[in-house]
Amino acid sequence: MVEIKKIAILGGGESGVGTALLAKKQGIMVFLSDKGRIKDKYREVLEHNEIEWEDQQHTESKIFDAQVVMKSPGIPDTAPLIQQLCKQGIQVLSEIEFASWFSQVPVIGITGSNGKTTVTNLVQHVLKEAGINSGMGGNVGNSYAKMVAEEEHDWFVLELSSFQLDGIENFNSHIAILTNITPDHLDRYDYKLENYIESKFRIVKNQTASDYFIYDADDQNITEWLAKNPVKSQLLPFSLEKTFENGAYLENENIVIKFNNTRFTMPTSDLALQGKHNTKNAMAAATVSQLLKIRKQTIRESMANFQGVEHRLEKVLKINNVLYINDSKATNVNATFYALESMESETVWIVGGVDKGNVYDDLLPLVNEKVKAIICLGVDNAKIVNAFGKIVENVVETNSMEEAVKIAYRLADKGDNVLLSPACASFDLFDNYEDRGRQFKDAVRKL
Ligand code: ADP
Repeated sequence: MVEIKKIAILGGGESGVGTALLAKKQGIMVFLSDKGRIKDKYREVLEHNEIEWEDQQHTESKIFDAQVVMKSPGIPDTAPLIQQLCKQGIQVLSEIEFASWFSQVPVIGITGSNGKTTVTNLVQHVLKEAGINSGMGGNVGNSYAKMVAEEEHDWFVLELSSFQLDGIENFNSHIAILTNITPDHLDRYDYKLENYIESKFRIVKNQTASDYFIYDADDQNITEWLAKNPVKSQLLPFSLEKTFENGAYLENENIVIKFNNTRFTMPTSDLALQGKHNTKNAMAAATVSQLLKIRKQTIRESMANFQGVEHRLEKVLKINNVLYINDSKATNVNATFYALESMESETVWIVGGVDKGNVYDDLLPLVNEKVKAIICLGVDNAKIVNAFGKIVENVVETNSMEEAVKIAYRLADKGDNVLLSPACASFDLFDNYEDRGRQFKDAVRKL
């Protein structure tokens, strides 16, 4: 690594400001630039730490004066400014790469199309319950760079998006988890699934024989890639269908983790998070816990008392024996597939938003089996009405959350579920998925 004297940072959000703090602490000159408006809470941090910054513009002379440029994950490689920087031979990297230069603390890195946040929180929860001093961040919550700058930990538990992985060179996860790969964000990958798959697999790129790779062995995108590409680390698959010498699998309704002659078991019915996808998430987290030699009893207890994460199959309220479930984070079809699959009663399903090129075929059998009414909540619902109108009689359209919840209340009978699992992005009617989830919960509480 060359000694860095000057860094320019593009983007004044969590990762940009975190990087600025770490660079400043390392005695590196920092210039942070954001084309949009930087939020007040971040402006205050920059001012307080005497970091030079600008927003609503990019002063190119200052940016091109830097030795390296850190770009926020939201900025695509194809942005003209990034292209120009690369042409001039200025290294462009991600916060994750930069932060790793200044930390010896081992990383548990978690990526995948769905389940990252759940697994990250679950791993962190088990580690905390075991008394391990770990810091959680990355794509969720705290910036990794900020934690490296300001906190002392024995482990980092990092959620890593594909955009973050795109900007790494030497960063390594001692334990890497790949939850699954289903098409997402393809607009950033030339609409080629294989490019997105390559991006996800960057998580193993720097692993060596002393590292571990935990992955979903039921996922064809993953197994096909592994069949063609050698990985240096020790492989620890998990599966609902297969069994392994070393890995996680199901045996008589128990999850079993086998690793180097150790064996952990736990009944799936004791897991706090229900549904097949969550059994897989639990397998991934329990495998990490086994690697860290956490007491089996502690693993069992913490996986049984985990509170779950907001907006992910979050149980909101039971009214007249109807359970209202907020799965606003289901912004793609695959996440909604698992939500519907985990429904144990008849379901009134609230779906819709900004379509991401969704193909609904996989949902048809589940909808047929479990859904009694569909409430389309979006500006343009035509595709959803088309996809399901033939198999569900009761399909209603609205563009108000409050109304959607009131209709659901009318349509649901005792023992039913009302599930918000949109399978779409939220930007047509809401600020983001959190806003959508909160509006749902508010509307439910008003019933
Ligand atoms: P991410 O951080 O990868 O977006 P989350 O944990 O936030 O993942 O979950 C996003 C959505 O996907 C939620 O609706 C959740 O219920 C669903 N989900 C969680 N784990 C999985 C999984 N292993 N496979 C498929 N869907 C999942």
